[in-house]
Amino acid sequence: MSKIIDGKAIAKDIRMDIKQKVDKREQKGLRIPGLAVIIVGENPASKIYVQNKRKACKEVGFISYDYDLDASVSNETLFNLIDKLNHDDAVDGILVQLPLPSHIDSDRVLEAIVPHKDVDGFHPYNIGKLMQRNPLLRPCTPKGIMTLLESTKETFKGKHAVIVGASNIVGRPMLMELLLAGATVTTCHRFTDDLPSHLKRADIVVAAVGKAKFIQGEWLKEGATVIDVGINRLDDGSLSGDVDFDSAVKKAKYITPVPGGVGPMTIATLLQNTLFACEYLHNKA
Ligand code: NAD
Repeated sequence: MSKIIDGKAIAKDIRMDIKQKVDKREQKGLRIPGLAVIIVGENPASKIYVQNKRKACKEVGFISYDYDLDASVSNETLFNLIDKLNHDDAVDGILVQLPLPSHIDSDRVLEAIVPHKDVDGFHPYNIGKLMQRNPLLRPCTPKGIMTLLESTKETFKGKHAVIVGASNIVGRPMLMELLLAGATVTTCHRFTDDLPSHLKRADIVVAAVGKAKFIQGEWLKEGATVIDVGINRLDDGSLSGDVDFDSAVKKAKYITPVPGGVGPMTIATLLQNTLFACEYLHNKA
C-alpha cells in the first residue's frame, strides 16, 4: 500500500457500495433512504458543503429534501420544520448545516432533531452512546477517519494516538473513537504545553486545529500515521491542511493529503449513517 491514504478513492468505493444497496432496496420494492438538509443564510463555505452533500445524496440514489431558509428565519419556523421532519416517515436523516445565525441557539437545534435521525451524530444522546462504548449514529468526520485508519490494516491496540484539537465535532468524538478502538489517547489543545513533546510519542496523529501547515515534520515520531483534518484556504486560493505535508511525509508511514484525504470521507460517512438509519432504525417498507 502507498504511504498516501487516498480518501478520495476510499470514499468513492463507499459511495458505490451504498448505491448498490439502494438499487437492491429499490428492486425489492423497499423504501428509498431520504436525507433532509437544512441551510440557513448565505455563508459561502456552508453553501458549498451543502451543495456537495446534496449532490452526493442524489448520486447514491437517496432522496434529498432541500430546505434553504433565509438568514432572518424565526426560531419558531426552524423548530416547526425540524418537528415536521422528525415525524415524516420518508425522512431518515436530518442535517442542519452549522454555523447558524446568532439569533438561533445551535445547541437547542441539534437537540431538537430526534436522535435516530441525527445522521451528523451531534445530538447529546448519540455522543453519550459513543462515550458509553455503544455507538449508534456516530459523528461523521471522526468515523470517516476511523475508516481511513482501518484501511492501513494497522492495529490500534497498544498504540499511542495524539489528537490536536478538542472541538465538539472533531477532537472530542475522535478521542472516543480511538479509545473504543483500543488506543491510548492524548488530546492536545490551545492550552497544551510543549505540543512537540506529545507528538514525539505519537504512533497516530490526528490534526484538527484549523491552522495551515501548523504541525511540523520534525515534531513527529518516525513511522507515525498522520491524519490531517484541517481545511485552510491560503492567500493564493489553494487549500492546505493543518500539517506541513512536505516535511511530515518524510517521517510518516501513512499520511492523508489535503484535499483528497479526510474531506471526502466526511460526506461518504454521512451517507453511510443515513443508510444505517434507514435500514436499522426506521425499518419500514
Ligand atoms: P475548532 O476551531 O472548533 O477547534 C480547533 C481546536 O484546535 C481547539 O480545540 C483549539 O483548542 C485547538 N488549538 C488551537 N490552537 C492550538 C495550538 N496552538 N495548539 C494546539 N491546539 C490548538 O476547529 P474544528 O471545527 O475542530 O476544525 C479544525 C479544522 O478541521 C479546521 O481547519 C476545519 O476546517 C477542519 N474540518 C474539516 C472537516 C473535514 O471534513 N475535513 C470537518 C470538520 C472540520
